[in-house]
Amino acid sequence: MHELGIAQEIVTMICERSGGARVRRVVLEIGKLSAVLPDAVRFCFDLCVEGTVVEGASLVILEPPGLARCRECGGEVGLDRPFGRCECGNTDLEWLSGEELKIKEFEVI
Ligand SMILES: [Zn+2]
Repeated sequence: MHELGIAQEIVTMICERSGGARVRRVVLEIGKLSAVLPDAVRFCFDLCVEGTVVEGASLVILEPPGLARCRECGGEVGLDRPFGRCECGNTDLEWLSGEELKIKEFEVI
């Protein structure tokens, strides 16, 4: 599963950065256009943290909406899926944001 690898990577990164301190809270940013399912990440995260300093930490997932620019008229288009259509009818969109997949912050005890 795609999300299992992602969760594993996130947990490994947090463990390295925490320097062995117990982690109390983790905030992730998963953009709506990232094609990653937050629920699946949450599920895999719980599996991956077992036996690490992240075990028991609360997980907060932020889902920034997508934003794109129309290549035809230059208008901005809000997206909550990885595709969409501008008001002018054009579907050739340049994604500006919404593909984020990152650790926004984490708190140690
Ligand atoms: Zn347009």
